[in-house]
Amino acid sequence: MDISWCTPAMHRGMFFYVCREIRIQDTSWIDRNPGRRYMKCPNIVCDDSIWIDPPMCARSKQIILGLLRRIHKAEGEIETSKLNERKLWVVLAVCVVWIGMLLFKS
Ligand SMILES: [Zn+2]
Repeated sequence: MDISWCTPAMHRGMFFYVCREIRIQDTSWIDRNPGRRYMKCPNIVCDDSIWIDPPMCARSKQIILGLLRRIHKAEGEIETSKLNERKLWVVLAVCVVWIGMLLFKS
């Protein structure tokens, strides 16, 4: 991969912040450009970025966004299952202690 540098750019007729940092690669996950790679300046106050990948067709965006929704839904279900498992372990521990107390009491 070629090294890409943050360079001066015009915005509304004025040059904005120029930091001359080496751009880093990232991937966009916003709805307009899901999965599209770009290079950005590591300086968070700098607006400098350029696209690596060409724009995607509407069908590709639709498929990627659908897959992302399914992944997020599955991740939510996994988190809910983990929480329920932790609750069951607490209930099990309480039951074991309670049964132990009943057995050793008599
Ligand atoms: Zn910059």
